[in-house]
Parts: sequence; C-alpha cells; structure tokens
Amino acid sequence: MLTYLDHAATTPMRPVAIEAMLPFFAERFANPSGSHRFARDARKAIDEARDEVAELAGVRPGEVVFTGCGTESDNAVVMGVSGKVVCPAVEHHAVLHPVEHRGGTVVGVDAAGHVDLDELAAALTPDVALVSVMAVNNEVGTVTDMAAVSQLVRSRAPQALLHTDAVQAASWLDLRGIAPHVDLMSLSAHKFGGPKGVGVLTVRDGVSLEPLIVGGGQERERRSGTHNVAGIVALAAALAETDVQRDDSNARIAALRDRVVDGLLEIVDDAVETVPRDRKVPGSAHVCFDGIESESLLYLLDEADVCASAASACASGAMEPSHVLAAMGVPKSRAQGALRMTLGYTTTPADVDRAVDVVASSVTRLRRLFVG
Ligand code: PLP
Repeated sequence: MLTYLDHAATTPMRPVAIEAMLPFFAERFANPSGSHRFARDARKAIDEARDEVAELAGVRPGEVVFTGCGTESDNAVVMGVSGKVVCPAVEHHAVLHPVEHRGGTVVGVDAAGHVDLDELAAALTPDVALVSVMAVNNEVGTVTDMAAVSQLVRSRAPQALLHTDAVQAASWLDLRGIAPHVDLMSLSAHKFGGPKGVGVLTVRDGVSLEPLIVGGGQERERRSGTHNVAGIVALAAALAETDVQRDDSNARIAALRDRVVDGLLEIVDDAVETVPRDRKVPGSAHVCFDGIESESLLYLLDEADVCASAASACASGAMEPSHVLAAMGVPKSRAQGALRMTLGYTTTPADVDRAVDVVASSVTRLRRLFVG
C-alpha cells in the first residue's frame, strides 16, 4: 500500500498515454525521417501529435518543437540566445544553472516566491536578450502572474525574449492562458501523466535560437535527433486528457490538499504552511516543521510507504538545501524541517488521511528523539 504524494517529481502514467505509445514499440516502429510508407505513417503520428499539442498549448503547430525532456527545453532557451539572460532565484536548476553558467542576472523573490517586479525592472537593461520566469514553482507551488511579468518585460526591454518554464503548470493551468504572454514555453510529459524523456519547447514564429543539438536537422533544424515517436504520441494523449479533466480535477485535488494541510496544522504544533493557498496550484502542500530535519522525516515516511520529498533531490538521491526557501527568506532552522507533498490525478482521500497520520506521528517521534 503505497501512499504516493510526489506528483511534482513525476506522475504515474495515464493509461491513455501508455495505450497510445504501444503500437510505436511494435508494428509502427519506423523512423519518421524516412521516405517509405512506414516512415510516412510515423511522421503522420507526429504531425497529429503536434497539431494536438499546439491546440492545447495555445500556439501554432509550427511553433511546437519536441525535445528530450523539460531540462533540455530549458537549456535550449538559455544557451540558445546571445546576450544577457535574467531569471528569478527560485527557478528550477534546469534554468538556474545555465543562467549562472552564462553569467546572467539572478533576481530576488518575495516571501511567497513571486519574482520581485522592482528588482526585475532594474535588471531589464537594453542588453537583455532573455528573461525566463517559471509559471509554477516545483517546490512550493507558487503561480506566477505571467501577464504582469510580460507587461513589465515588454515595456522595459522590448528587445528581450520571454520564456516560461511551464513544466509544473500543465497539470493545473490552461496553457492557452499562458502562451499569449510569452515567446517560449517549456513542458515535460512526465509531469502530466506522460512518459519520462520527452518534452516540448514552444517557439513563437519568427524567434530563432541557436540549436542546442545539431545533426540530422529534425524539427526544422531546431532540434536534431531521431524522434521519440512513442513518447511524442503519448505526450499528446496525456496532455489532452489532462486538459479535459483539469477543472474537475483541480477542484477535487484542492479539497484533498486542504484536508492534508489542515489536518497537519491542527495536530502538529509549530507547523507552518510555507505559501498561502491562494497563491499556488491545487496539488501543492508544503509545510515546515520546527525542530526536525526533513531527511529524518522522509526516512520515517519511506519506512511507512509514504512517498514525499523536501528540497530538490539531486541525482544521487541526497538532499540539497533548498535554494527556493532560501531565496524566499525562510529561516534556515525552519527550512531544514520542510516537507513537500504533491498531489495529483490519482490521489485519493485515503492517501491524504494516511499521510496526516504518518506525518504527524513521525514528527512527534522525531521531536521526542531530538529533545530526549
Ligand atoms: N522545470 C521544472 C519546474 C521541473 O519541475 C522539472 C522537473 O523536475 C524540470 C524543469 C525538468 O524536467 P525533466 O525532468 O523533464 O528534465
């Protein structure tokens, strides 16, 4: 009996996505770049997926570039422009590290994780080529007002491109409402019920980036490499189902999120909700517990088959201190007791009730150990 509350790390695949991809591992195995009928069949599947993704993301089919993952989409943007790059300090490392690598400007955020618009305005000098601001934060769930960011960037730095990492947004927000405000948008299939290892970068018509991966010239020279046909088809199927179910699912999941957070705040002393709920997506529950360490808490949760997380885990699974909480000004003593529970389309009332019991008893146990 696994209680899975780590949907921001990855989601279980939607059955429609699994079903959609299977034929491309079997009889429809062709390389879409070929010239025979099998190739044309695979190419048709990609074209259909592109049309569908474009409609769901609020862009034109020619503006959809299929990539290998969200990280690649983010890197392709930051590494693909020449000129100064700017991003807020709470970005995912897939944006933050390339921005730092390029000597870009990292601007501050407020206590809820929203980019500080005054600091951003000050950074928008005439040499800025790219501003990248995430639509939804992966750690604390904060939603960015992309219309406000866009208005500022367009007025202060009309020459700059605006990118949004919408990897954590697709499950919760209608992408058609984000796309008009930006020039570039990154998505990743495994965050909305698709497979790992396939992503999207939308690139507004007329915008040109230096490609990160060159070779066979696929994706109109914007991203070379033989297409992951099965992954692309499954990405489109997962996004379509996500889009159809979003409104109902958001209401249901917000109620479950309230139940888990309210339950914990009621039972556990000195528990603090990190970001007000009206600032974030429905699936995000982020709470800090004074007097304990996340790593020990996650160990106890893991023993009880509850899957959650804290700061971003690095590839080795080891915990890193949260750059997001630090940027938000959360004191270190509080940040070290952070717990991120992220709900999703498979989450049930039984999951959240069990999480409340297990988290509350684990925090009590750790506090006793620490004091005693
Ligand atoms: N951007 C954000 C906000 C994310 O949460 C993630 C994944 O954790 C990524 C980018 C990277 O996506 P991918 O796992 O597809 O490389």
